[in-house]
Amino acid sequence: MSKAPKLDFYAILTGRCPQCLKGPINQNLFFTRKACPECGRSFMPEPGFYLGAIAVGFLLNAMLLIPLLVTLKMMDVPMKTLMIAPFVEFATLGMTTLIYAKIIWLHLEYRMIRALDGDQKQDVRRTGD
Ligand SMILES: [Zn+2]
Repeated sequence: MSKAPKLDFYAILTGRCPQCLKGPINQNLFFTRKACPECGRSFMPEPGFYLGAIAVGFLLNAMLLIPLLVTLKMMDVPMKTLMIAPFVEFATLGMTTLIYAKIIWLHLEYRMIRALDGDQKQDVRRTGD
């Protein structure tokens, strides 16, 4: 069992490939690339791969929303405002959290695979071979 690589927060923040830390994961705001342009690592290893990103997105949204709601409650804001706050938060930050949920999920998956199988999976998951 090999040692798992550390999560690279700069690569996550800039949306880079978890393997080479150079290739951009997103093609544009709405689409994820099929593979890394630098190292060829697949960003869509299997159908339904990004279902786990839903949980990551939920956690990201909760991390953003709960402090806001607690702050609003401490400021004694009316209940209607408290009920609208999650919708406003999702309308303004929802796309960003969705994109970062996918990036974080890719990095977590890469780290888990490397921790379990070492470097063996690296070659299997390359595209075009
Ligand atoms: Zn790469």
